[in-house]
Amino acid sequence: MTDDRVKLAHGAGGPAMRALIRGVLLEGETHAETLAMDDGAAVPFGDRWLVFSSDAHVVQPIFFPGGDIGRLSVSGVVNDLAMMGACDILGLASNVVLEEGFSLDSLRTIQSSVRATCTEAGTRILTGDTKVMRRGEVDGIVLSTAGVGITDRVVRNAGLRPGDAIVVTGTVGDHGLAVLSARNNLGLRGDLRSDVAPLNGLVRAALAVASDAVHAMKDPTRGGVTGALVEMAEKAGVTVVLEEASIPVSHAARAAAEVLGIDPLLVANEGKALLAVARDRVEVVLDALHAHPLGHQAACIGRVVENTGSGAVLLETGFGTRRLLERDSDPLPRIC
Ligand code: MG
Repeated sequence: MTDDRVKLAHGAGGPAMRALIRGVLLEGETHAETLAMDDGAAVPFGDRWLVFSSDAHVVQPIFFPGGDIGRLSVSGVVNDLAMMGACDILGLASNVVLEEGFSLDSLRTIQSSVRATCTEAGTRILTGDTKVMRRGEVDGIVLSTAGVGITDRVVRNAGLRPGDAIVVTGTVGDHGLAVLSARNNLGLRGDLRSDVAPLNGLVRAALAVASDAVHAMKDPTRGGVTGALVEMAEKAGVTVVLEEASIPVSHAARAAAEVLGIDPLLVANEGKALLAVARDRVEVVLDALHAHPLGHQAACIGRVVENTGSGAVLLETGFGTRRLLERDSDPLPRIC
């Protein structure tokens, strides 16, 4: 650290956050599973794998078009488990930190959303903890959720291979843009809604048709598609080339991105996955994704090539090629 205080950029999902984790939180750590900094940790469990993940949620506003902090807290951890191949979720733990004065009606609404999202994901909250802070000591509510899942095969976010196709399971940027629009009272017309959803069913459908052909997965949350792919490419030592015209972005998200002056590729998604798939199996995987309600807009958006730099992600725009860079200097806090 060049400075001795935490900055907002340390929570942005980009290089500053990874530096904070490596330089402070993992200082002295030697365990390979921890140092992999994947979406969760996989530990051997009989002849299978137990996958463990946790996620803290501080989104503001707590209710936004398409979801709320309760749906987000379940989807966030379920998706991290699913990204590692663990689509059977054994159960979740939910820790609730409340501010004195928080509305019990709001809490009931959030809890009912937590339960509904658990049902959707085929899991339950098995345990948890509740703390109340004095007024002003926390902003309303913080939800910290952990989960465990089981899988036969662990998928790593570092598994990309040259020749792979890059698939995204639907439109990008919806969650972050919906939250920012609600926070800033933009009053945008159209149906800009967060995509927040548990993806274990969708991922299960893809793995069922081509398990060995799915070489890597990651959900593009903070830092967006660009942030996720830069991290994946760096870890794998490959270059990713995207075709701009094939990246699905809804009209509503594109309009909001223009008003806010933000690239949709840098904005958080909470119901999308990126998959690196063996080129000869990508059509089979796309067919499986398209047949699922959460994947009907899935698209092949690029390819993996041999490394020509240090984990570069390049965007072919039709007019030329430019390198995509992570957002770090101007973070979007409290998006998830
Ligand atoms: Mg993740």
